[in-house]
Amino acid sequence: MTKKILTAAGAVVALAAIIFCVRAIRTNGNSIIEVTDISDYEQTITETISAVSEFIDPAEPQLVTAESTSASPDIAVPSAVTAAPPAASRTTESTAAKPSAAATTTTAAPKTTAAATSSAAKSNTISNYEYAYAGFNPQYADLNVADWTLTLVNRDYILPEGFEPPELVRSVPSVSDSKLLDSRVAPHYNDMYQAAKKDGIILETVSGYRSYSLQKNNFENKIDKYRNQGMSRIEATQKAATIILPPGTSEHNLGFAMDICSLEQSFENTAEFRWLKAHAEDYGFILRYTKEKQSVTKIIYEPWHWRYVGVENARKINASGLCLEEYLGKVS
Ligand code: ZN
Repeated sequence: MTKKILTAAGAVVALAAIIFCVRAIRTNGNSIIEVTDISDYEQTITETISAVSEFIDPAEPQLVTAESTSASPDIAVPSAVTAAPPAASRTTESTAAKPSAAATTTTAAPKTTAAATSSAAKSNTISNYEYAYAGFNPQYADLNVADWTLTLVNRDYILPEGFEPPELVRSVPSVSDSKLLDSRVAPHYNDMYQAAKKDGIILETVSGYRSYSLQKNNFENKIDKYRNQGMSRIEATQKAATIILPPGTSEHNLGFAMDICSLEQSFENTAEFRWLKAHAEDYGFILRYTKEKQSVTKIIYEPWHWRYVGVENARKINASGLCLEEYLGKVS
């Protein structure tokens, strides 16, 4: 009985979180409507819901009804909230074999010209990629680059299924709810955080590491949603990918990226953003998805998304005016 009461309380909290998030996101106005390729808004919301849903006993999922979750049609609700276990909630028809981490060792792209790399990318595309039916043909990210800080992950160079960083730690140890980053990156974020704090700037960690499975659940729930609206499997997958990055394609999965303070493009007008523009490279972080390079990164301008590449690389990349893909000669 006590368990049921606790479960019910958890469900109420989860629902309140959903409603709060939906209201918050809708007050963002134009910025959310203009989004064409972004996972951060929804990912952060689903992280919140996911965290809250841990209070819900999966054995009694009926406490959150489909009706109650449908109040937030634009949010990909994690399986625990949609009253079905993760495996059962997926409707993917793919039976693609799961790639092994070892496979990544054979897919290293040569460091040559962008043109040569582009051709190499075609020959190394993943033959059994589970979303290939929708026209997505990535290859595996090279996880064995000489300089680990330059690991490239995007929609063309993806992490293998189930990828996890070697070790995850809190980005700001003195802040109990600070988000996780790769343990090789987190100390640099903390240094940056502390330096900014001395200048009266708080670089709040909004979203750090995200797991492959969370990304996959969110992506496939989104596909399901569009299929339920009558779209074909291909259409639904392509549309889902414009809202949520497919699994394995996010730098958040790598553990090298942090969304800082806000998920609104107006963040560029804040003192926090100006501080980052002036100082982040001194701690090894770059603004990853710039306004100028949207056609190359295929990601909208994200003033909040900062990626670790090491101090030397950050300074070189900023001085070059190139985005990471261009800097590495891996423009697809
Ligand atoms: Zn981000």
